[in-house]
Amino acid sequence: MTTKMNRQSIIDAMAGLVGPENVLTDAHDMAPHLIDWRKRHTGVAACVVFPRSVEHVSNALAYCNDNGIKVFPQGGNTSVCGGSVPDASGNSILLNLARMNRIIEVNADNNSMTVEAGCILTDVQNAALAADRMFPLTLGAEGSCQIGGNLATNAGGTNVVRFGNTRDLVLGIEVVLADGRVWHGLRTLRKNNSGYDLKNLFVGAEGTLGVITRASLKLFPKPRAMATAVLGFESVQAAVDEGLKLQAAFPGELVGLELISQSEFEISLRHGVNMRNPFDATPKWMVLVELAGATGTSEALTDRLTEALQDSFDGGAVQDAVVASSGQQRADLWHIRHNVTEANGHEGMGLTHDIAVPTYRIPDFVEQAEAALAKHYPQAVQVIVGHMGDGNLHYIAMFTHAYWATVEDKRGVQLKLSHLLYDIAAGMGGTFSAEHGIGALHVPEMSIYKNASEVALMRQIKQLLDPRDTMNPGRVLPAA
Ligand SMILES: Cc1cc2nc3c(=O)[nH]c(=O)nc-3n(C[C@H](O)[C@H](O)[C@H](O)COP(=O)(O)OP(=O)(O)OC[C@H]3O[C@@H](n4cnc5c(N)ncnc54)[C@H](O)[C@@H]3O)c2cc1C
Repeated sequence: MTTKMNRQSIIDAMAGLVGPENVLTDAHDMAPHLIDWRKRHTGVAACVVFPRSVEHVSNALAYCNDNGIKVFPQGGNTSVCGGSVPDASGNSILLNLARMNRIIEVNADNNSMTVEAGCILTDVQNAALAADRMFPLTLGAEGSCQIGGNLATNAGGTNVVRFGNTRDLVLGIEVVLADGRVWHGLRTLRKNNSGYDLKNLFVGAEGTLGVITRASLKLFPKPRAMATAVLGFESVQAAVDEGLKLQAAFPGELVGLELISQSEFEISLRHGVNMRNPFDATPKWMVLVELAGATGTSEALTDRLTEALQDSFDGGAVQDAVVASSGQQRADLWHIRHNVTEANGHEGMGLTHDIAVPTYRIPDFVEQAEAALAKHYPQAVQVIVGHMGDGNLHYIAMFTHAYWATVEDKRGVQLKLSHLLYDIAAGMGGTFSAEHGIGALHVPEMSIYKNASEVALMRQIKQLLDPRDTMNPGRVLPAA
């Protein structure tokens, strides 16, 4: 085994294995792949490799594993925790799955579809809709992220409250292991109790155990009726109380329950294109609620939602409410919600924390976090958006770019603030990473907030599947 190969020999080897037309070497062409979506993480690689088949992936991985070359898998490069770009070593390849983007089969009778890992999420959703079915994973990055990246990160999004995370939406996967072996776990069964559930090792492993090349996904009936509303509240407690009430009132029909602070709502309106504020005066807290029904009409479902809200409205718990009366109004409301990540980038330097606590503890978390922020970082504005139904908040401390430029120890501030917030979440039985994963950014927290025996077990699994640390080194697991 060669431990260090020069760049040209890595390029020549990859060109020989996957074809020169599938290898990027020019610095300008490679540049967008070597910086993350938020432009906070950069890396270096000998080349960017675009496999077109599982054989390409297998041959590339076997070669890299034998020759001490590190492999960084990349999907749509929308990671928000520095997971999608290589490290600074340069002795590596970036393996982007974009050219493995075929929808292989949509089987409406089996409510399943089989796709290659490089399919863009919206293409997967649209292929399901074309067969009168629905693939329910939905998130702001859906026009760019790949299903392989969604699986690797066990992505969440806005429908988790009803359909679960990506892990709950997958029936089987095909994976190329670090040494090039292919694990054929591509099944479309709903029941299979024949031993360990290996697929769940790779889902959420963020590319540290192998490359996901194909997946069989669960489909659901396409909704016939939709009802969407945005509700305004004076306090986060009132917002959570109403959310829990709606969850109980619409079991199986409530598909979205999103919490948005006034600060976040205004940032999205300020920086978005074609934004319309549905309120005359923006409330302090908003909840975007969506119901979906497999039967009936949208009008009837909207009437039921309006009726359910009436008592809270009359009693003053709900301050204001805008109920969408057309598909366009519904899209406008979601546009505000889906635009927040991009808008935050324009607003300033937002330090985002992807915490989760039990839903009923959200008001306590917000109260304690707000006090901690005011005490330690009064320059920051509290900005919150979250998947309330899952207890998952994106808690953003927003600094102006001008102030952030004056901060000398930026990483120090980031770590101190994060740990203040993670300690609060941990005290409520919560987590420091609900859906974004660990990437490179949150590796230090693995040693602090994860149980030591859990991390030790993870290391043993990594050692078994990738003993030479070929796959995504420095991601997820802290150094021993
Ligand atoms: C606007 C916006 C909104 C977002 N909203 C959400 C949200 O609501 N919920 C949420 O969970 N996330 C969200 N994210 C984060 C991100 O979109 C998800 O993590 C997404 O699943 C990443 O997919 P990707 O294809 O871009 O993967 P990348 O970012 O390219 O990679 C992510 C990780 O997966 C690995 N990987 C990628 N493809 C493969 C593969 N085929 N096999 C093995 N490993 C692989 C990479 O090595 C990396 O570790 C959002 C991001 C943005 C920019």
